[in-house]
Amino acid sequence: MRVSVLRGVGDVAVEERPAPQPRPHEVVVRVASVGVCGSDVHYYEHGRIGDHVVDAPLVLGHEASGTVVEAGSAVTRLRPGDRVSVEPQVPDLSCPQCLAGRYNLCERMRFFATPPVDGAFAEQVVVPELFAHPVPDTLGEDAAALIEPLSVGLWACRKGEVGPGSRVLVTGAGPVGLLAAQSARALGAASVTVTDVNPHRLALAEELGVDRALDVSGTPLAAQLTGRADAPGRPDAPDVLLECSGSSGVLADALPLVAPAGRVVLVGMGADTVPLPVPLIQERELVVTGTFRYAHTWPAAIALAASGRVELDRLVTGHFGLADVEQALRATRTDPRTVKPVVRPSDRGEESR
Ligand SMILES: [Zn+2]
Repeated sequence: MRVSVLRGVGDVAVEERPAPQPRPHEVVVRVASVGVCGSDVHYYEHGRIGDHVVDAPLVLGHEASGTVVEAGSAVTRLRPGDRVSVEPQVPDLSCPQCLAGRYNLCERMRFFATPPVDGAFAEQVVVPELFAHPVPDTLGEDAAALIEPLSVGLWACRKGEVGPGSRVLVTGAGPVGLLAAQSARALGAASVTVTDVNPHRLALAEELGVDRALDVSGTPLAAQLTGRADAPGRPDAPDVLLECSGSSGVLADALPLVAPAGRVVLVGMGADTVPLPVPLIQERELVVTGTFRYAHTWPAAIALAASGRVELDRLVTGHFGLADVEQALRATRTDPRTVKPVVRPSDRGEESR
């Protein structure tokens, strides 16, 4: 089979590899669509994310969908021909975190496209049966792949305890911010405000039905919200902040806007060490938490997408074949209108859109 391999910083090439064989509890999936994630771009540009260093050839891509073509001997839920969305993590399901239900925090996690585990820019991948989730025929291949970033957004909402009546502020309108915003609406939020500096993404946020899409490139966020935006107890102050931009400046601007007893969820990556306004967090009893991927999100995310309450296809801004992975990885840098490039490993040759 053909795979696209990251051989070093800025060096991607198609190689031929043996087709994968399933172990008893695994299935082989013929890959249909793979979304390009910011982490793929980061590995491509820098060869590392934090302590994860690409020191051997690595297949990128972890937002994948496809069709089961072979099932291991002990597989019971899936058969060849089943369409699935791939949950790209393989926890050991036996460590203390797994046993506590927090399998995203597994001590021995193997995660797609994270060194040394290969990802899904490949014609076929092997997936444990438990993490190949069947999708209904109403869900297209791209949407089935984008269940992964939707899961990030949905998990952020769960960590933020978003529910009926929540007033949610989402900073950053990249794919995860847009999907967190849609998730918040689907979970019953009373209002969802999205901020960004990219007018194309803000326009898309509005099309997707957020209540307010605010451009913070000029006027600070606080000044754009009505009334005394930083006054605790202001009736429409957000009670959940989903920080999806990864910018420390954005976090510094947005955190003081959160209502007492509100929750602040740090989703976006990029900001390293940031100062925290400790008295404000204390006096308002704010809860500040991180998120790491997701757990138990696929069934709900598939249902939200299949019901149309979350739109995934609208995020797709281009399709690329396996030979054009490099172009897909560069798309977010070369075109500000890019939201989510999708690689179709079974497409031969040129960009199809
Ligand atoms: Zn574990």
